[in-house]
Amino acid sequence: MRVLLVEDDSDLANGIARALRAENFAVDVAANGEDGGHLGATEAYDAAVLDLGLPKRDGISILTEWRASGRALPVLILTARDAWSDKVQGFKAGADDYLVKPFRVEELVMRLRALVRRAAGHAASIIQCGPVSFDAQTGQFEHDGLPLKLTAFEWRVLSCLILRKEIVVDRMDLLERVYEQDADVDSNSLEVIIGRLRRKIGPELIETVRGRGYRLTGESACD
Ligand code: CA
Repeated sequence: MRVLLVEDDSDLANGIARALRAENFAVDVAANGEDGGHLGATEAYDAAVLDLGLPKRDGISILTEWRASGRALPVLILTARDAWSDKVQGFKAGADDYLVKPFRVEELVMRLRALVRRAAGHAASIIQCGPVSFDAQTGQFEHDGLPLKLTAFEWRVLSCLILRKEIVVDRMDLLERVYEQDADVDSNSLEVIIGRLRRKIGPELIETVRGRGYRLTGESACD
């Protein structure tokens, strides 16, 4: 999972990015409205955290443009503006949630997880696929009822696959949700991560769909 954070207060941005990375998310940080607007319009994200008062460009105009061009990613507005009319303006522009500064970063993480889960169409927080279960609200994986230890890259790939279980996830789409913007990416690194995941959860669960991508499937486990 990959999150876009548009925030010009560098201390706050660093704190949020650190907390999200500690929970295995990939995070791209933009410190002004122009860069943030561009990233959100051109890169793939599972969610965005958007400040309203930004240099170069206001958060509301960024969000309005994303929505007008069909970008559906969940957006959580983060701002010091707490007037009712500001919130209404944010939701009218297409926000999915709203958090007023100051806030606890734990609450931000919980709200983001809920947004990502709902955007993927899951009503309940536990998502099961064969022997693997994912608690979308805590980020914990289990395999056969036991906690599954994953690296950050493995977690990003597996969470992406289980949120879209039984659906083929495009290889490029998967890659985009695993690496931060300026990461050095080896051409076969996704295959390496998939290989490690197969050793941890069983080779039959992750199906390779030639020329397209990967599918997490619990079907074979039910035979
Ligand atoms: Ca600001």
